[in-house]
Amino acid sequence: MLKIENLSVEIEGRRILHKVNLHIKEGETFVLFGPNGSGKTTLLMTIMGFGNYRVTEGKIFFRGEDITALPVDERARRGIGMLFQRPPTIKGVTLRQMVEVCSGKKNDTEELAGQLRLNDFLDRDVNHGFSGGEIKRSELLQLKAQGADFLLLDEPESGVDLENICLMGGAINALLQKDRHHEKRTTSGLIITHTGYILDYVEADRGCVMIKGKFICRGNARELLKDIHKTGYQECAACQR
Ligand code: ADP
Ligand code: MG
Repeated sequence: MLKIENLSVEIEGRRILHKVNLHIKEGETFVLFGPNGSGKTTLLMTIMGFGNYRVTEGKIFFRGEDITALPVDERARRGIGMLFQRPPTIKGVTLRQMVEVCSGKKNDTEELAGQLRLNDFLDRDVNHGFSGGEIKRSELLQLKAQGADFLLLDEPESGVDLENICLMGGAINALLQKDRHHEKRTTSGLIITHTGYILDYVEADRGCVMIKGKFICRGNARELLKDIHKTGYQECAACQR
């Protein structure tokens, strides 16, 4: 579903990603681990197509199509959606309006919001005065409304309390069709996690560790997390298996 070949990316003239290769199949959930500042968000923002991220080398293919030069909205139309690590507050736009734009009014906004317990937030400006957990739920609501089938989730658990994380985990599992048998899933995910905490709630397949803009280790997501918990990211840099 997603194929990244030899991708190098610069921000303001500084090279952040170095020759990254990544392949994610339909129905697969892939986890990206790594210390702060290693380039994880940069990779997701580049896949989504944001302007500050300059691709200096390599290509991004989505369902076989080269999307490296496509604008953000075209990528969204093709089914790529993103939950931001630090989403902005958007004054003058209510969450209801945002959800309606995302869904093209195809879905029942109240019903969608109800699933994430956000009915009381629909007529407030997007993320304005929302708590950490509410912001992440509002992000998930927009993703659900969009109906994206390739989900870029940037640290979905950060700033979220225990009660919300359970609710979020359930919503992410539903989006990734975890109730279906592996082969029947059509939605894929690329989840960034620094702590690995979200994996207590969401089942994942493969994973890799990014350090200083390079993938240095790949494997089963849960086993990688076990090793990271044991030795920390420092050992990952040394081990490079
Ligand atoms: P991570 O998500 O792994 O914590 P990021 O992708 O956010 O890492 O950042 C990788 C590096 O790129 C960091 O050194 C960060 O300071 C730098 N960076 C990210 N965004 C910008 C920006 N807009 N301008 C300049 N440097 C940036
Ligand atoms: Mg980040």
